Amino acid sequence: MAGDGKNEEAEEAATGASPWRATLLTLFPEAFPGPLGLSLAGKALEQGLWALETLDIRDFARDKHRTVDDTPYGGGAGMVMRADILDAAIEAVADEPGPLIYLSPRGRLLTQDRVRELAAGPGLRLLCGRYEGVDQRVLDARGIEEMSVGDYVLSGGEMAALIVLDACVRLLPGVMGNAESGGEESFERGLLEYPHYTRPPVWQGREVPEVLTSGHHEKVRQWRLAEAERITRERRPDLWAAYRAGRKED
Ligand code: SAM
Repeated sequence: MAGDGKNEEAEEAATGASPWRATLLTLFPEAFPGPLGLSLAGKALEQGLWALETLDIRDFARDKHRTVDDTPYGGGAGMVMRADILDAAIEAVADEPGPLIYLSPRGRLLTQDRVRELAAGPGLRLLCGRYEGVDQRVLDARGIEEMSVGDYVLSGGEMAALIVLDACVRLLPGVMGNAESGGEESFERGLLEYPHYTRPPVWQGREVPEVLTSGHHEKVRQWRLAEAERITRERRPDLWAAYRAGRKED
């Protein structure tokens, strides 16, 4: 258990609601909270704005070697996590809130829209795979959603879980201050974000775009929108096409 029970109780007593809750099934509970214990997410965890629980899948093994995997039927390299062990671990978190999601490169790609949905719910239960992955039967039997954090292969689901949780936690009420508010961030309007500048006004001969020091809010807004559109058009034709289609429907 990586959360702080006292803070959770204090928060619950103050708001009358349970904090958003992340439950992780993993072979490496020590990977959490990891970087989620730092900065805004870490402070929010301490304050009980969200809660984190880890379960060690190995605790559900039944032999003295605490075996959780076996060789794949049909042959091939690597090991597969056993359905019976995983099912017992999943059963232990049946009463925890939120959808149960298996992190997997075969899953639906995580998007900011899905992050918003998940952050608006009561929490998440994440199954972190290792080795070659998990026995398909446990996914089928429990109708488990698969989610990918990108078209590449990680060595374990823990890194992917940290990504999913970080993206969700920063959207929880009270986690981001006004200064860090995400309303204009990449993906929020279907566009990538415009460029940022800060002091000094000239650096290595490069000047800050004049409009940003003009004090003219409407011109700044227009410049930022035009830059966001330019960057999206140049870098992400897929997002650009969806944005243009959305504008036509407005
Ligand atoms: N054999 C699997 C395949 O080719 O699809 C890859 C297994 S990977 C080495 C081990 C674990 O890392 C997976 O079970 C999954 O939990 C996690 N993982 C790897 N890449 C991921 C990704 N892009 N998104 C989410 N989870 C990932």
